[in-house]
Amino acid sequence: MKKTLLFILLGVPVWAEPIWTVVSPQFPLDTPEGQWVELEVSGPAGRHPSLQTARTTTSLAEARAGVYRTRFQPAVGDVTLDGQMLGSCRTHSGSLGVFEVTKENAVLRTGPTSDYDRLTPVTRGVRLEAVERQGDYYRFHTPSGWLRLSEGMLLGPEASLGNGLLTVIRVSEPDNIVRLTMGSPCAWQVRQDVENRKFWLDLPGVPSATFHTAYAQNSQAIPAIRLHPLGENGTTVEIPLRQRLWGYRLAWKGDTLEFAPTPAPRIDPKYPLRGVRITVDAGHGGEDSGTVGLDLHVKEKDLNLSVARALRDQLKKAGAIVTMTRDGDHQVAPESAPAEAELQSRVDVALRSRAQLFVSVHHNARPDVQDGRVSHGAHIYYYQPASRGLAQAIAAPLARAIGEPSYQHFWRSFAVIRQPEMPAVLVECNFLSNPGLEKGMLHDRAYPQKAARGIFEGVTRFLVRDM
Ligand SMILES: [Zn+2]
Repeated sequence: MKKTLLFILLGVPVWAEPIWTVVSPQFPLDTPEGQWVELEVSGPAGRHPSLQTARTTTSLAEARAGVYRTRFQPAVGDVTLDGQMLGSCRTHSGSLGVFEVTKENAVLRTGPTSDYDRLTPVTRGVRLEAVERQGDYYRFHTPSGWLRLSEGMLLGPEASLGNGLLTVIRVSEPDNIVRLTMGSPCAWQVRQDVENRKFWLDLPGVPSATFHTAYAQNSQAIPAIRLHPLGENGTTVEIPLRQRLWGYRLAWKGDTLEFAPTPAPRIDPKYPLRGVRITVDAGHGGEDSGTVGLDLHVKEKDLNLSVARALRDQLKKAGAIVTMTRDGDHQVAPESAPAEAELQSRVDVALRSRAQLFVSVHHNARPDVQDGRVSHGAHIYYYQPASRGLAQAIAAPLARAIGEPSYQHFWRSFAVIRQPEMPAVLVECNFLSNPGLEKGMLHDRAYPQKAARGIFEGVTRFLVRDM
């Protein structure tokens, strides 16, 4: 009898309804060892809940009615709040060691498989600090991203990030190229603040020895460059611009990194397109039809070309200098070139013609056919921060021009818009996979003109914005 009672009291857990909702962070957590994390939960007001991790107990302060906050250092294991499980934590050591890139152009990605988007390539000989491993990939902080194990090798624990030493900074005029002499190639990461017209070049493992720098303090385009320490042993070079931030080119010449900001086009507000060099890319072509309409079998490549031609005509009429990647039903790369050269060939057309804007015209579909039948909306994609404003500027006028209620702009790493030299967008005018829209696009003879007009208006808006 006694035994049974004890069993009922201790052996049967009392299940309580969860009353706490985690606002941040997202569980499961995976943080470097020793890192502090801000926790915010919501729940009933007027409580004094306590947080329990494998190592510590912390009480939470009520920031406002029903919202509680604290900071804690995650340890491996579960985190509970007044007995309610919030989630689990995992930690990893801050550094796995120095990784040296041995492949010519290693592909940095946003995640640890080849399904993730590509970021900036990393050149051979560059050393990076690996902070985490997942499967076949290492993760890095600067530049931030993942590289495949086979693209380099992890060096011994004594290895340093490099022998680089920033000794000279020069700005040449009138081309405004910033030349940074560093002794050996090293990892870099560009950050951009489009609003405040500023670039930062992060150089981890490259200390600065520039007591005085040999750059022109009163350069036409670049006022005083500033240096900041980055981590224990690195340097951040702050490069402000006098004019609008438009893009940049970055290349190694021996031990010197050349950073060339793209000059923004001079805009006459009365005739904003006059003299502006624009590359218009009609997506797909030749063997590659792109997506094909489900009911009427309209080929995306043909529709893209009609819109691209209309856009070219409208832009030219307004005074722009337009280059087309293709003006017929064919691929852009030579027939003999490998398949992966096709997209780069389109970018090369823009670079060769020193384009100041790049617009790639497409029509959309979904991997899921049923999904695609009912999808609609003008979707504009950008990759570089300087391209975001262009994507945003095109979305609404395009949707209005083609009578489409829904529009959005997204960040996405598509090969044709990845280059940093000029603002570039990929425009998915609408869904060709939606039979209702397919019919409309085929039978409305004015459709290419309308879609082009919408893109044209967006481009114009972007050019005259904060000139
Ligand atoms: Zn397409």
